[in-house]
Amino acid sequence: MEVVIIGAGMGGLFCGALLAKRGVRVTVLEKNGVSGGGLQTFARGGETFETGMHVAGGFNDGGILNSLCHYLGIMDRLKIRQSDMMLSITYADSGHTYDLPAGRDAFIAYLSGKFPHEKDNILRYVDAVFRVSHEEKLFYLESMSGVNDHSDEFFMPADAFIAKYISDPELRAVLASVNPLYAGIPGHSPAYIHIMISALFMENPCWFEGGSAQLADALKDIIEVADGRVLTCCEVASVRVEDMSVECVVDKNGREYRGDWYISDIHPASLFPLIEGKAFTSGYRARIESIPDTASAFKVYLRLKPGTIPFPCHPVSVVDSMENAWKMAQYEPGSWPHGVNCFFGQGKDGFASHLTAFCLMSFDEVREWENTRTGHRGEAYEAWKRERTDRVLALVEKRFPGIREADDDIFASSPLTFRDWMGTVRAGAYGLFKDSKDIASSLIPIRTKVKNLLLTGQNVNMHGIGGVPMTAIETIQTIFADDSVLQGIRETISNK
Ligand SMILES: Cc1cc2nc3c(=O)[nH]c(=O)nc-3n(C[C@H](O)[C@H](O)[C@H](O)COP(=O)(O)OP(=O)(O)OC[C@H]3O[C@@H](n4cnc5c(N)ncnc54)[C@H](O)[C@@H]3O)c2cc1C
Repeated sequence: MEVVIIGAGMGGLFCGALLAKRGVRVTVLEKNGVSGGGLQTFARGGETFETGMHVAGGFNDGGILNSLCHYLGIMDRLKIRQSDMMLSITYADSGHTYDLPAGRDAFIAYLSGKFPHEKDNILRYVDAVFRVSHEEKLFYLESMSGVNDHSDEFFMPADAFIAKYISDPELRAVLASVNPLYAGIPGHSPAYIHIMISALFMENPCWFEGGSAQLADALKDIIEVADGRVLTCCEVASVRVEDMSVECVVDKNGREYRGDWYISDIHPASLFPLIEGKAFTSGYRARIESIPDTASAFKVYLRLKPGTIPFPCHPVSVVDSMENAWKMAQYEPGSWPHGVNCFFGQGKDGFASHLTAFCLMSFDEVREWENTRTGHRGEAYEAWKRERTDRVLALVEKRFPGIREADDDIFASSPLTFRDWMGTVRAGAYGLFKDSKDIASSLIPIRTKVKNLLLTGQNVNMHGIGGVPMTAIETIQTIFADDSVLQGIRETISNK
């Protein structure tokens, strides 16, 4: 069997590696000069910066990523570092800081100490998080179930899920502090995404020492050792469909690639224009195109002077006020940003070497420059970027006074950077938005009407390290029409 995969992001590479492990010859086509998509890192002034993988989870013994990477034989290659806490969050107006510890029991004990009047509710909330997380069967290496097997809590809005258990408004805000990791919108973002991310990072907050590109490289090696290929600078320009089957995909240089199956790891809105021939109905296209994207991102990167900021071994979040806990992804124009997530690089002697300050941002903010290209966006754009950078740093300084003086070099990326890097249309940081108000319409099936074309990646189900690899397993099991991948992983673990 031969499989052609469009896009060497985390989804495409996990699919490729899982297939290669089963002896399938894989060709992965990537438009960028390096593979990895959101796993890619870049270097500047000797520092390595992440593009889209600052915090990870599930790499602990028994964790889903640990099990999957053991199955693929790459776990020992990965340099995973444990964070000393899940998140430290400061509210700038009150000055209150919460240091959320890693580990379920420590998390409960810490918050119960801070909010003694909510002790029982905190227990019930954390119990509910782990109970409902078990409904995502794949996450626990169990065979999948359909949408209808889920409880009401699974699909209810995330903010309503928190409010169901917790009464204190400040504690509600603290528990919602992971929502920038899924671009949460109150009343709409489904509880299951909040739950999976909370469970993942509460149990095992960690990061890739030296950068998450190591995971992309390890997956690429599995594919190549099995005689497959990961071809970079190889943008797919068309997907030829005949009789509702893909005949071949063609790259920008006119080279054709053929396989028995084709997997698309790119955004559906980027895939549709590539299709040549009768494939999707206009109704299907219209439905998918009507699903909004999650918010995009604006990031400020600082190289720090040696010995200036002690290295926090965990993410730090600064929010202007607890009232704005749910206003990171959706905000009034002019009031941006309500919150910033800070990720530090480890330098020498216990100090930080760099900082990435990450804020969600609406694509509308850059709409007027959407037809420009990198390096040629004009002075007005550069001035806008400087002004937005100042706003981000002003918020960061509420927690780290004087951080600007500690910086050696400072630069930023906007939603346009992400759009061009990932090859998407609207630069949603986490792909298509999943809406609890209309969950059936916002979940896209892996199978398409085109018989040998499957979808994978963050647009299909959940994004990030807790979602994309699971969808890859599901995609590959669709090809084999069984759950042999899951069985293989379970066997590897039991033989460990
Ligand atoms: C700023 C930011 C921070 C994030 N932080 C975290 C985090 O801390 N933890 C976490 O778990 N997740 C995080 N995420 C989410 C995570 O990065 C993504 O969910 C994940 O990387 C998506 O993988 P993917 O394979 O679905 O898509 P992508 O990584 O987007 O991969 C798609 C690939 O397809 C390629 N491509 C596009 N068009 C074509 C074409 N025509 N031909 C060939 N190739 C093409 C792209 O170049 C890209 O490499 C973050 C995302 C962003 C944007």
